[in-house]
Amino acid sequence: MAQSVGKCDVLIAGFGPVGAALAVYLGRLGISVIAVDRDTEVYPMPRAAHLDHETMRLLHLAGGAEAGMQINELELAREIGEAEERWLELEMLREEIGA
Ligand SMILES: Cc1cc2nc3c(=O)[nH]c(=O)nc-3n(C[C@H](O)[C@H](O)[C@H](O)COP(=O)(O)OP(=O)(O)OC[C@H]3O[C@@H](n4cnc5c(N)ncnc54)[C@H](O)[C@@H]3O)c2cc1C
Repeated sequence: MAQSVGKCDVLIAGFGPVGAALAVYLGRLGISVIAVDRDTEVYPMPRAAHLDHETMRLLHLAGGAEAGMQINELELAREIGEAEERWLELEMLREEIGA
């Protein structure tokens, strides 16, 4: 059954990063927004592991740059850990084959 969600100036179809950013920036300008998405579940994979400087500037404007930095640092730590594991495996393989 259709549900009434009220009135707004802008209706955003799609609540991915573009829709979410648009909702934040329009909201900051005092424009009332409703954002909807066809998906009812959060996407199961991380999709903000690497953020470039432009994205960080936009996050900063939206007030979320610190959270973005933490995500980047966690991902960097994970990648360094994986690289160290791979390096150790390679060293063990070298020893095994006497290279
Ligand atoms: C596994 C993975 C990892 C990634 N990692 C990174 C990363 O580390 N850094 C990075 O910068 N980028 C990453 N990306 C890319 C990033 O996720 C995309 O560039 C970004 O999501 C695009 O945002 P968007 O809002 O344009 O589209 P989307 O994220 O696709 O959002 C569109 C939304 O609109 C909804 N929608 C579509 N049609 C309708 C409709 N008719 N009605 C209602 N809702 C609708 C969809 O359900 C979706 O939620 C990754 C992508 C994947 C798949």
